[in-house]
Amino acid sequence: NLHLSWDGVMDPDQSLFEAALMTQPKANATILMLARNSDVDSAVQSVTQLEDKLNRNVGYPWVFLNEEPFSEEFKRRVSNVISGVAKFGQIPQEHWFQSDWIDEEKAQASRDEMVSQNIIYGGSVSYRNMCRFNSGFFFRHSLLQEYKWYWRVEPDVQFHCHIDYDPFRYMEEHNKTYGYTVTLEEYVQTIPTLWAATKEFIAGHPEHIPQDNSMSYLSYDNGDSYNLCHFWSNFQIADMDFWRGEAYIQYFEHLDSTGGFYYERWGDAPVHSIAAALFQSKDKIHFFDDIGHEHRPFTHCPQRDGAWTRGKCGCDPERSFDDTRWSCLERRERIFN
Ligand code: GDP
Ligand code: MN
Repeated sequence: NLHLSWDGVMDPDQSLFEAALMTQPKANATILMLARNSDVDSAVQSVTQLEDKLNRNVGYPWVFLNEEPFSEEFKRRVSNVISGVAKFGQIPQEHWFQSDWIDEEKAQASRDEMVSQNIIYGGSVSYRNMCRFNSGFFFRHSLLQEYKWYWRVEPDVQFHCHIDYDPFRYMEEHNKTYGYTVTLEEYVQTIPTLWAATKEFIAGHPEHIPQDNSMSYLSYDNGDSYNLCHFWSNFQIADMDFWRGEAYIQYFEHLDSTGGFYYERWGDAPVHSIAAALFQSKDKIHFFDDIGHEHRPFTHCPQRDGAWTRGKCGCDPERSFDDTRWSCLERRERIFN
């Protein structure tokens, strides 16, 4: 597995760390993608990049989930670009579709209202199914039971830098549970009552809120109002045992019981982020500054510590999302290390 550098000469450092990576112990981890059969080209694109930038050297298995059976074409083309194991699973109906007790008339009225306000995915039921599944169910899927760690990858993303260490092992060794690359503000119209529901939960469950939580990342007034900051969830490296734990399960059930995933358009990103920030200490959250990741329309491109050069990154560090006024990173840096 020789690595050729830009001038066609074997780069000894590169092949050394690749060899070292291959022999290291592995974490109990999988790379996870939720996709439709129609996403096959975009899925192949993302998978090819992560295999090339890291996974061909560490060989983590992939899991693909879909509420429909994956087509033979999807399985064949995706498997073909994966160095190791790929598993394809179907999502149980009850983890995906809108529950019977949801008042469909009320849900429809809310969707119509969001369409008239031009809110992204405002009229989509399938998007709401996806957000609720990603919030409360993916980690319960039978194919994921054996794993502790997952890396969420979406179709059509780009990995801009070589990754010369194992991010799962990093999480493990530094006692982290949640890792992200981009933090930004949510559209307030999609979550009008999410914070009220969260405050209700907190009031009833003070036992889940440790002293050194990250409320100051979520709120500028000690929890009175939500500042809309959240971790963008199209990239996540995280510990499923956190989602499987009592605090998160009770929080999800509380949120779900309000119907807000359908009466509004709650995203899995703010739901996960609020939980990650409140139900554990702030040192559990990790900013993967050195992983170049693009999900349109935003890119996180490493700028610091020589990471851009070391990772042979192809992205433009000047256009990293971190520097834009929409990023919550400034605010994060006041809080996390
Ligand atoms: P966005 O990133 O918020 O614009 O939403 P995406 O369309 O990228 O969806 C987020 C993730 O869910 C991606 O991995 C999609 O492939 C997946 N996804 C979205 N809708 C569906 C769906 O109806 N069925 C399946 N199986 N996957 C979906
Ligand atoms: Mn996406």
